Amino acid sequence: MINLTQLVLASHNAGKLKELQAMLGDSVQLRSIGEFSSVEPEETGLSFVENAILKARNAARLSGLPALADDSGLAVDFLGGAPGIYSARYADGKGDAANNAKLLDALKDVPEAERGAQFVCVLALVRHADDPLPIICEGLWHGRILPAASGEHGFGYDPLFWVPERDCSSADLSPAEKNQLSHRARAMDLLRQRLGLK
Ligand code: IMP
Repeated sequence: MINLTQLVLASHNAGKLKELQAMLGDSVQLRSIGEFSSVEPEETGLSFVENAILKARNAARLSGLPALADDSGLAVDFLGGAPGIYSARYADGKGDAANNAKLLDALKDVPEAERGAQFVCVLALVRHADDPLPIICEGLWHGRILPAASGEHGFGYDPLFWVPERDCSSADLSPAEKNQLSHRARAMDLLRQRLGLK
């Protein structure tokens, strides 16, 4: 087990820092990589794990602090796991609405039973840039891709992701409910256990 008081988060997204800090608890302070650098590394990995490790090592190198990175996305069974690590830019960087439209089109006429999907979150924590033993925690949230969008909350693919536990889309859930069930919450739960925080 490692003892930490500070971690640099390999993300420039203030919302993500706030969400992950709330899930992590008060005993470890998350700092933004933005305090140290504005340059983002190229995500050259072929998997969530590779990209999370690459981002964590880069943040540790730039900050001199232990670093945490997350990599997340949507893996659709019928599409062999696509859009996967390319979830954010599935429709060539045209944004969430275009991504969702492309996904609906790719699953046109695919029956409900074959529309299984999971949101994936991989957290990677390195004690220093060359750490040979990163802590890796994976959270999966299983669901199905709806035939049409539903809900006003969340972001990204939330309006298309049917949540079996609640029989609604993840965009129909309140942010608090989503934060209890989501892939990020599951991965963070495991990380807290690994760090002895619960
Ligand atoms: P990031 O790792 O947070 O940048 O997420 C990568 C992409 O995966 C996002 O841009 C979304 O398209 C998708 N994604 C990840 N997590 C979620 C989620 O909780 N809801 C909806 N889409 C998500």
